[in-house]
Amino acid sequence: MKIGKLVKTHIEKINLFCENEESAFKELLNPEYCKDTFGINYPFYEEVNLIDDKLHRRYYTTTYTVRGKAVRITNHWFPEHHDSFLKYLLSKKIINYKDLEQLNANEQETKHCIRNPRKNTRYKGNAIGNSSNLLVRNILSNLGLEQFNKDDWLKTKKYFDNSCAYCGNKDSLIMEHAIPINKELLGEHKLGNIVPSCKKCNVKKGNKRFDNFLDDNKKIEYIRQYMDEKNYVPLGDNEQVRAILEMAYEEVSIVSKRYIAILNGLSYKQQENT
Ligand SMILES: [Zn+2]
Repeated sequence: MKIGKLVKTHIEKINLFCENEESAFKELLNPEYCKDTFGINYPFYEEVNLIDDKLHRRYYTTTYTVRGKAVRITNHWFPEHHDSFLKYLLSKKIINYKDLEQLNANEQETKHCIRNPRKNTRYKGNAIGNSSNLLVRNILSNLGLEQFNKDDWLKTKKYFDNSCAYCGNKDSLIMEHAIPINKELLGEHKLGNIVPSCKKCNVKKGNKRFDNFLDDNKKIEYIRQYMDEKNYVPLGDNEQVRAILEMAYEEVSIVSKRYIAILNGLSYKQQENT
């Protein structure tokens, strides 16, 4: 439900609550309290006789009488106020957890996210993507029984003349996966897929395969030879492996979403109990 509609839906309940709770009414007339509580820039209630022409459009047109005062309610709500508004309703017991679940259920039906749809979705999406990617990387990094140590790494660097396998630079070399470890390219954390790289090339190469990143065929061939020597056979276009990893990826994403939903519910429940 959009924040504006959410507020309007609860106006009668809030009015009733304030009718019985003078302190709550005073709080909602107080701009600072409303700023702290909801993040809004206008008080929830404003007395009608204090609303001038300039302020007029910041308030819904309907006038209510609460505790003998004629007031209007601010319309200056944005999606980021969604959470704090619900928290207020819960903390004042204007709604209870069941009401919230009902709101949640309605929300799901309309396929909207109840918590800050605009603000959080992108971040949440990233977090879920990250956990899924992490799993894929973890699987790919642990395929096979191969182990390697510092000596192996020194030998690898020596093979590349202690220089960047891509540009030849000799400064601060780091381990670089010639074929990136992700579910599209299926690189693995095996010695034959690790080449020395300068930091610049490592950043520049990003998620590209070594043979897509490099133009120099001699360098590409040299890396291929190295892979052969270390008995590294890239998974390459292995549809079966890819399909299995895709499955793992989706599964983690579902698990992440489920636990986010559970924890979101919990945080509201705790709010209600305090
Ligand atoms: Zn380089």
